[in-house]
Amino acid sequence: MLSFNTAVGSRYSAAVLTLPLVLIHSNEVLNKAGLKTIRETIDMINKLTLSICAVLIGTSSYAQAKQPEFAIHHCKAAEINAQHYRNFPDALLEAQKRQESIAAVKQARQDNRYKSADGSSYVDMLAISDSPTYVIPVVFHVYGTVHNGDTVNDAVILDALHKTNEDFQGQTADFADIDPEFDGVKDSLNVEFRLASIDPDGNPTSGIIYHPQSSGAGNYSSSDVKNDHWDNYKYMNVYIQNDLYADGVTNNSGVAWYPDSGMSDEGLARVTYNGAYLGTNTDENFRSVLTHEFGHFLDLIHTFEGGCKRGAVKRCGKTGDKSCDTPQQNSWQMNPGDGGILNCLGETINWQNFMAYSDQYANYTQDQVDRMVNGLNSSARQTLWSASNLAATGTAD
Ligand SMILES: [Zn+2]
Repeated sequence: MLSFNTAVGSRYSAAVLTLPLVLIHSNEVLNKAGLKTIRETIDMINKLTLSICAVLIGTSSYAQAKQPEFAIHHCKAAEINAQHYRNFPDALLEAQKRQESIAAVKQARQDNRYKSADGSSYVDMLAISDSPTYVIPVVFHVYGTVHNGDTVNDAVILDALHKTNEDFQGQTADFADIDPEFDGVKDSLNVEFRLASIDPDGNPTSGIIYHPQSSGAGNYSSSDVKNDHWDNYKYMNVYIQNDLYADGVTNNSGVAWYPDSGMSDEGLARVTYNGAYLGTNTDENFRSVLTHEFGHFLDLIHTFEGGCKRGAVKRCGKTGDKSCDTPQQNSWQMNPGDGGILNCLGETINWQNFMAYSDQYANYTQDQVDRMVNGLNSSARQTLWSASNLAATGTAD
């Protein structure tokens, strides 16, 4: 989960705090102009202008409030999942058991094969094609259609989902152009998140359900989540709200929990995401934060979890992000522009990883893909992509 400075409680914070985000990503756009369309660049400039106007409009009332902090990323994923395990010991046991099964997935990698959706055949792990190994039926629950001035509609969601599928499948320009240190480590997951076309009652659906404006779907026991969910064993539920924690802050980008059958039993499994950062509502890099959240949903941990410790090297499969091919990070703030990408051991970090906070999201790694495959085979996720469920949700090819 990422967010932008939740510390400032002013009702003007959303407008004011948009400024550092847009400034930083405007630089990113200019630096990588070759990868951007003119339209995107103009959109960014327009957004920058709007943000400056918003700041100016809010200035007089904001004068008494705290100045915004410029730490653009602050994530609670580690905290919320740790809290979840404290609250529910069974969930912790389930996670520990899931961890133990990763070895079998790695063995399957050595065979260069994974089990296919119907359980009867095997496919090459690295295949990236229009025939995904895993299809996940998705339903979007959208609360209000204007988030921080941006419109949330079917087109925006379809575009956002398409880009996330490209990210997972390694079909982006940045994936092809990864830092050379990670050329042999980068990996893709041949998964497609596909909008459901049959609802739980067996009726046709677009897979996008609109509700009145609401907030708080990032809170564990959100009534919106509970009341509006579709069977968590059949659908991946994505909740689009603007104020994720019902605290008046509208620039938190997203939050997600790792697989847990207890949450699925309760109808609480989910990704919650801010419509202002969906697809073309944000810039070309930041939209991949949706990919980051989907990574959490498939059991991925932040690459900076636990910081950098020399003693953790030999226990890389059990500490930090529990992936050995993602070098430890000193902190979350390790983009090239942050002053360096060497960790405490002098290793180059994979700063372009989707599970970092990256200025140039580009890749997952082999160990992360193993971890996601393992997550897909967990009790909380494996029914989603079963052949019978794809037929039931209208997501089969
Ligand atoms: Zn996160």
